[in-house]
Amino acid sequence: MILEGPVNVLKIDLESSSWKLEEREDLVGWLGGVGVATQLFMEEAAWDKPPLAPEQPIIFAIGPFSGIYPLATKVVAVFRSPLTEEWGESYAGMRAAIALRFAGYDAVVIKGKAPRPTYLVIDEKGVAFKDARGVWGLDTEETGRLLREFEGGRGRRSIWRIGPAGENLVPLAGVNVDTYRHFGRLGLGALLGSKNLKALVVLGNRSYPIKNPTAYNRVYEKIYRAVVGTPLLSKYHYIGTAENILALNAQGSLPTLNLKASRFEKAEEVSGERFGRESLFRILACAGCPLGCIHVGVYRRPHPKGAGYISTTLAYDYEPIYALGPMLGLDAVDKVYALLREVEASGLDVISTGVVLAWATEALERGVVSEKETLVPLRFGAVESYIQATQYLAQPPNDFYRALGRGLRYATRIYGGEDFALILGGHEMAGYHTGYAFLLGQSVGARHSHLCNAGYSFDQTRKGDYTPEELVQYLLEEEAWRNVLNSLVICLFARKAYTPEVTAEALQALGRETDPQELMILGRKILRQKWEAKKRLGYTLDQIPLPPRRYFETPSGQGLLDPETYAALLKLYREKFASFLNA
Ligand code: SF4
Repeated sequence: MILEGPVNVLKIDLESSSWKLEEREDLVGWLGGVGVATQLFMEEAAWDKPPLAPEQPIIFAIGPFSGIYPLATKVVAVFRSPLTEEWGESYAGMRAAIALRFAGYDAVVIKGKAPRPTYLVIDEKGVAFKDARGVWGLDTEETGRLLREFEGGRGRRSIWRIGPAGENLVPLAGVNVDTYRHFGRLGLGALLGSKNLKALVVLGNRSYPIKNPTAYNRVYEKIYRAVVGTPLLSKYHYIGTAENILALNAQGSLPTLNLKASRFEKAEEVSGERFGRESLFRILACAGCPLGCIHVGVYRRPHPKGAGYISTTLAYDYEPIYALGPMLGLDAVDKVYALLREVEASGLDVISTGVVLAWATEALERGVVSEKETLVPLRFGAVESYIQATQYLAQPPNDFYRALGRGLRYATRIYGGEDFALILGGHEMAGYHTGYAFLLGQSVGARHSHLCNAGYSFDQTRKGDYTPEELVQYLLEEEAWRNVLNSLVICLFARKAYTPEVTAEALQALGRETDPQELMILGRKILRQKWEAKKRLGYTLDQIPLPPRRYFETPSGQGLLDPETYAALLKLYREKFASFLNA
């Protein structure tokens, strides 16, 4: 185990229904999580094959803190993205990390294509290959319900599954984890579908004695206090990330109606506070998190056959509300829930779904496409049309939905409408029109996520008061350090508690000698490896285009952005990039 010896890598071949365990001393220096997964991807990737080729690997990994320290709750997935066709990296929590820890594996590599629909049960005895024909074609909710019945391990297991979108190889598809979390963005769901892999059930019963409990308890306490004793608690626990709806709206940073505006006049109607008042059912936490930010609400509606009511529980966070509410003009809690339920059941990524539907709506308004393509009269605020369109995305009935399901970069190549397509780094924007740092940050981040380097946070705290050099340096340093945190693999909401000093101390308490300086160097090394992989997949920093015109037409939280200023920042980033990585 990564805690005290070699890295345990479970290798699964779906083609031959076989598996083996490798104990890899040589990977220990990569810490765990994304560090180990990146290294494994370098070894396993089929560089010259398309993303959905059976030879392409899916790599999952946890880190040395998983299940050991507070908020070390995530599993990282690394793969070649069917959406951007380059680096794919995604994170999910709930019970995912603790289940892999109990099962005894630090990393899992899955290759090949199963001869028939299959689900895997991974535990400390190894891997069972099970017939998934009974759940193939079912949505994520029903699949989860049945797998919970079929398999044991209640309370210790984690179930990762795809819906119809993944089965139909739609590059907007994600992977549902334990009902309320996801491996989202970048199309991991399509990759599972391409391998005939409907689901993974991960469980185990192993335990891990701590060798130096005194040192461990001291550091644990320090991290725990830092997490629960800060404003993080009130921000994320009581209202949840959905608190950002009103905050970003007040700043003029909330992308609305395909970013025709950055304020939503009905923001109050879909605020986190309103979701809480009207629907909150319970607040959940990932296993190992003392904070708990997962707000689960009840979506209750009349039964379609008129016999009473039916209800569904759904997690509401900032991003789903942003993407399905303001972005599409849905102005009531129940309207957002109605669409969110469809997105969840289909197994689509919620951010990309909202953004591609917003583009399609404006494309229809402008006559770039016609109803012959959209099949339904897409209109901002019209929830029923969006529900139907979401079903079409997951099970495309025509070329238009097939193209839209491949993301806006692909769809606009065929239909035009690039100027108002909210693309950054090859895929759909996250919900922060905060300023230059977000715009540049999502574009240049290795996985093109706002979470690569938190540019949105820099915009909000510095409010335009910085030099170009400071902005670029921040993005570079933040992304490098996040590679360390993502190797551990902690929830990034706890990033302020895991300072370089505390992180080094926490590793030392587990018997690993290191210091903050060594960790910072490792962060750069991992980032360098990712860019080496991106290059081999055909992607370099030179390919980043100017963001579409819409970003410069609608005022951001920093006012109207200027394309020339953005271009100068990108140029500076490129100039500093190589020397930063090699320092
Ligand atoms: S803060 Fe939220 S997402 Fe992060 S570990 Fe806790 S419950 Fe999970």
